[in-house]
Amino acid sequence: MKKIISSLASFLLIFVASFSLTSVAKSAEYFSIGTGGPTGVYFQVGNAICKMVAKIQSAEHGRKKGTDKALRCSAPSTGGSTYNIGQIMEGELQFGVAQSDWQYHAYNGTNPDKVKPFDGLRAVFSAHPEPFHIIARKGSKIKDWNSLKGKKVNIGNPGSGQRGTFEVLMESHGVDTSFFGGTSELTSSEQSGALCDKKIDAFGYTVGVPNSGVAQSTDGCGAYIIDLQTDAVKKLVADNAFYAWATIPKGTYKTSKKDVTTFGVMASFVTSADVSDELVYAVVKAVFENLDDFRKQHPAFANLDPKKMIVDGLSAPLHPGAIKYYKEAGLM
Ligand code: GLU
Repeated sequence: MKKIISSLASFLLIFVASFSLTSVAKSAEYFSIGTGGPTGVYFQVGNAICKMVAKIQSAEHGRKKGTDKALRCSAPSTGGSTYNIGQIMEGELQFGVAQSDWQYHAYNGTNPDKVKPFDGLRAVFSAHPEPFHIIARKGSKIKDWNSLKGKKVNIGNPGSGQRGTFEVLMESHGVDTSFFGGTSELTSSEQSGALCDKKIDAFGYTVGVPNSGVAQSTDGCGAYIIDLQTDAVKKLVADNAFYAWATIPKGTYKTSKKDVTTFGVMASFVTSADVSDELVYAVVKAVFENLDDFRKQHPAFANLDPKKMIVDGLSAPLHPGAIKYYKEAGLM
């Protein structure tokens, strides 16, 4: 009887031990990347990153090769840059895509009305350039900044980078919303439809090129993008390292008859100092070791250059997990 009990006990011990081993092997780490509207380029960035992360998981066990942990990545649609930074600060998101101007202001606390100061913000890499577009309705007679006077303009939803940058543009021209004939706060996925339906005359949008949301109104109903080269814009570019001149090339959209000159920012991938080095390292490695595939995920990523990605548009300090990979890969 004693023998039966002891062999039963050792069987149970082995059973419990092997069960806990499998559960360690299968433990998963869930993380989320904040993006932007579903028709924007940020949504493509976030989902391309998740795709690269999925690629490095072993097919059999769904876990990162050589470790016990499965990485589970999601990249939901969100309100945009400043929303993402706020949610990273709250610990609700682990990563996010954000315009370089709002990354700068969040880290340095230099525009607290538009983005909460967050010195725990960390840069990971930058992605595509984002020219600031003013897109005007066919027949609206809008040809430059001054002719927006009295027009119905969408300035973007609160939480989006485009909204913040549009407000900076108004302030730098010494006007407020009363300059326009009316303003709306439509999201990026609503604005092109509203333009084609003549509910608005123009909208401002900071976005990568090309973008299907913009094409909906340019190719769909003849909307066009105007030059932005006022003295106020020249001053913005001269005074701020996170702004640069940008070109939207001729032929990008059906109505792009010539190059458009405007100012722009970089889309950057950011995280928090509280996110582990191990997770940031794994995500960065997944992207940089599959960069050829990553570039194919969207035409705006076609020219991504690893040397520039770890420098351009980054004003918050790089996360140590990212530095570890860049040094290992000989990029730093
Ligand atoms: N730059 C925009 C923003 O921060 C988002 C652009 C996009 O979704 O691609 O709101």
